[in-house]
Amino acid sequence: MSRSDKILIVGAGIGGLCAAIALVQNGSEVDVIDIKPDNSVAGVGWGLRTNGLRALREIGILEKTLEIGFPTPPLTYYDRKGDHVVDISYGRKVDGMPNNVQLPRLGFLEMASARAMELGCNIMMATTAVDIQQDDDGVTVELSNGSSRRYDLVIGFDGINSQIREYLFGKKYVPVRSGGVAWRAAVPAPESLKGALFCHGFGGKVGFVPLAGGMMYVIVTHAEPGRPRHDPDAFAALMHERAREMMGDSDFMAEAIESLRTATNVAYTPLDTIMVPYPWFRGRVMIMGDAAHATTPYLGSGAAMAIEDGVVFAKLLRTDDSLYDVQTKFMARRYPRVKTVWDWSLKMMHEEFDSETPEALDRRLDYLVNEEPAAIDYINRVLESDY
Ligand SMILES: Cc1cc2nc3c(=O)[nH]c(=O)nc-3n(C[C@H](O)[C@H](O)[C@H](O)COP(=O)(O)OP(=O)(O)OC[C@H]3O[C@@H](n4cnc5c(N)ncnc54)[C@H](O)[C@@H]3O)c2cc1C
Repeated sequence: MSRSDKILIVGAGIGGLCAAIALVQNGSEVDVIDIKPDNSVAGVGWGLRTNGLRALREIGILEKTLEIGFPTPPLTYYDRKGDHVVDISYGRKVDGMPNNVQLPRLGFLEMASARAMELGCNIMMATTAVDIQQDDDGVTVELSNGSSRRYDLVIGFDGINSQIREYLFGKKYVPVRSGGVAWRAAVPAPESLKGALFCHGFGGKVGFVPLAGGMMYVIVTHAEPGRPRHDPDAFAALMHERAREMMGDSDFMAEAIESLRTATNVAYTPLDTIMVPYPWFRGRVMIMGDAAHATTPYLGSGAAMAIEDGVVFAKLLRTDDSLYDVQTKFMARRYPRVKTVWDWSLKMMHEEFDSETPEALDRRLDYLVNEEPAAIDYINRVLESDY
């Protein structure tokens, strides 16, 4: 495969844009399409650890990322009464970089789109693929804007409900419920909040994560059996109710929790997952990021895995190997790492939910103090290792 390939990336999310930046710097001609009309996105903040930051440095957008984000101290756990339980480390600081940076989702997408376009990527929003036909020499894609284009490679970075995955495998691999849900909202932060503070309550947690501009992002996670349909108009009241149930009669962070009642931007996300057994490609069409391996956010590493995918693939393409050899080397490198992160993210969620009764919550807090630091140290080393 020559490095003057024409590549289509389906999905201008975090993974798709970073892959576009990596691939265009190889000399490839890169089109990116996204079904959304603009960069608007559900959820306000996300964290990126050393490995994700290292991948961004490889593609030249670390500095711009650090400009819009801020490094965070270790994640601090309190119990529902406000007693400090444990500090959870984000791992070692390697190569002079912070070990975790909190970022605005919209700000990151805007920065990454601008950089991709500056480098020559052609980004088409409000556009999807309506037909894909591949043969030995290339892939013909009919776009929803009426044009038909020929590519050497198509990469689906189109998220957990991926259309490209369905094109490759039909309904064989579909998202499954993890049994957990997350509520997220941005509200004004108390001045005392300096780093991420998580309160472990009955059956889940309420997290407070500072954002720029005096705001914070509140996250509430808990188990939710079945798949109830909540009225979006009731999201703020429901998020407030869930947080209150978890905190019981405690008034710790009561004012911050109260402010959820009037939050206007509440996102409710059932934490579905998917893990497509390798290979994530058929011929010249591939999937990466959440389209191939979405997990729960318990290690805060889904986006980092999507970024790593694109960066590793672009690096492997820089060799003289055939496309098939590049794809097989990519799978051999990515699958074990991604699967470990995927498994841990689910394991951590189930451990958190096993805390519904006062006795179970006591056991859980004891585990957090006595066992979790060693477990986290191990997984942090895995994240810090080469991708
Ligand atoms: C509550 C929560 C908190 C999280 N926190 C973190 C965190 O702190 N750190 C972290 O690393 N990860 C976190 N994650 C995970 C992270 O958000 C995802 O892993 C990451 O967004 C995946 O990136 P992606 O580019 O693969 O997919 P996405 O971000 O889902 O992007 C997919 C893109 O494809 C587009 N698209 C979809 N269908 C089509 C189509 N048919 N045609 C064209 N375009 C299409 C979409 O519009 C979207 O722009 C969190 C997830 C959740 C739910």
